[in-house]
Amino acid sequence: MTNSATEPNSALEGAGSRILVVEDEAALADGVARGLRAEGFEVEVAYDGLTGLDKARGTDIDLVILDIMLPGLNGYRVCRTLRAEGVGTPILMLTAKSGEYDEAEALDTGADDFLSKPFSFVVLVARVRALLRRSVDGKAQPLVIGDLMLDPLARTCSRAGQQVSLTTREYELLEALMRKPGQVVAKSELLDRVWGTDFEGDPNVVEVYVGYLRRKIDRPFGRNDIETVRGVGYRIKQDPTAP
Ligand code: CA
Repeated sequence: MTNSATEPNSALEGAGSRILVVEDEAALADGVARGLRAEGFEVEVAYDGLTGLDKARGTDIDLVILDIMLPGLNGYRVCRTLRAEGVGTPILMLTAKSGEYDEAEALDTGADDFLSKPFSFVVLVARVRALLRRSVDGKAQPLVIGDLMLDPLARTCSRAGQQVSLTTREYELLEALMRKPGQVVAKSELLDRVWGTDFEGDPNVVEVYVGYLRRKIDRPFGRNDIETVRGVGYRIKQDPTAP
């Protein structure tokens, strides 16, 4: 693709991001998918709410375009469920009518933006790009819990002002926990996020790495912030100054 040297390459912005389209009107869903692919996005389509929910849980999805009226599970419920599970993927909700009520409810369920049908494809793409941009900025913000800090851009960790050197797996494990402070993160989710969904080794590897992390970020500082929730997973304390 050619590009003028004087203009920013806006045509390719966000290219390669993976978008999930959840819409039961097949013609609309497929049309949007085709258009987005032409813009350089990778697109998956789900034609009902349950399939959409399942696919949206995947860590490889960067943004969800979610219709409200869906068979199986409606868009509000898909959105609410994802947020309750701690999935922070940006969601652009398609509202059927341009009523304030719809829009307020869309935002209330945890959607990041909404677009009322019928919409222009150009507007849809602009909204998608804006959301992806915001999301990238958000992911780049340092994660801070008390005196524990993780810098996603530099991939560095510090505690009480001291740099702590982490391996890639340790870093990713800590990031997965710190993105959900105070919440239990299931062992299976940690495995998926850090070792990948195709990992077929011993799931106890999570426990082993939690042990490594504790030896680096907790013990030297007299803390015990990574908690084991027996039979479920692990949780990092929301307030690390608490005993
Ligand atoms: Ca629909």
